[in-house]
Amino acid sequence: TSALMQGKRGLVMGVANNRSIAWGIAKACRAAGAEVALTYQGDALKKRVEPLAADIGAHVVGHCDVTNVATLDSVFAEVDKLWGGLDFLVHAIAFSDKDQLTGRYVDTTEDNFSKTMLISCFSLTAIAQRAEKLMTDGGSILTLTYYGAEKVMPHYNVMGVAKAALEASVRYLAVDLGGNGIRVNAISSGPIKTLAASGIGDFRYILKWNELNAPLKRSVTIDEVADTGLFLLSDLGRSVTGEVLHADAGYHVIGMKSVDAPDI
Ligand code: NAD
Repeated sequence: TSALMQGKRGLVMGVANNRSIAWGIAKACRAAGAEVALTYQGDALKKRVEPLAADIGAHVVGHCDVTNVATLDSVFAEVDKLWGGLDFLVHAIAFSDKDQLTGRYVDTTEDNFSKTMLISCFSLTAIAQRAEKLMTDGGSILTLTYYGAEKVMPHYNVMGVAKAALEASVRYLAVDLGGNGIRVNAISSGPIKTLAASGIGDFRYILKWNELNAPLKRSVTIDEVADTGLFLLSDLGRSVTGEVLHADAGYHVIGMKSVDAPDI
């Protein structure tokens, strides 16, 4: 796959550490020949992201908190200065208060509902608005979602509602940007133990359940999700837009627990 992404320049947002899905994607894109720029959220993550970027020869284009419009603008200004254009963009950003990723969805507060929707859903649109201006030669935008958008998963709560809106955003953005040759897709990843996932109640149980019941009888890795990402970000995926592609060891097709799955 070494020439797959040759000549492409991509901004990858959402690396927190070496377990981040965004990190898997950044690595895979670099290995396939792309130029990559990373952002980080705040000084604490800067210390983690800078050495990772150095490891793969990626650029770092600064701090971006999607709730702060000025930081979004400054990151895209940096990308413009660096490359004068953009070919792909990865949005791997989500947040909700940990105390509401447990218990009942019905107890979600208005404040956390708004915050979750802003960071986990609207931010894709905010980023697409800015990316569109730089993707003068077409492009590919990719976000990350989860099965909790489609079906009720324990503890996923308001994040499931935000992911459902995110998946709908993918379809609307695909139509709006399609005329400019810009594709917009999502990967629905199976559960992976990352920083964000550790905020979800009983996450280990969910992971185990997936391993026992997914058609492939295992969980997925960030490198596998990244390979699916390469397909969507590269010209291999040139006819695919508005799609939510499951990289989940097939979990989304099952209707019930395997008869031979042991109890957890
Ligand atoms: P992660 O914790 O490594 O990444 C989440 C990222 O979101 C972090 O880099 C964090 O800095 C960023 N972020 C949070 N709030 C932000 C803000 N206000 N501004 C800018 N950035 C902000 O975890 P991950 O699991 O790699 O998550 C990446 C994406 O994958 C998320 O959208 C997540 O919902 C999605 N996803 C994860 C799983 C899983 O099981 N890990 C499954 C399906 C989908």
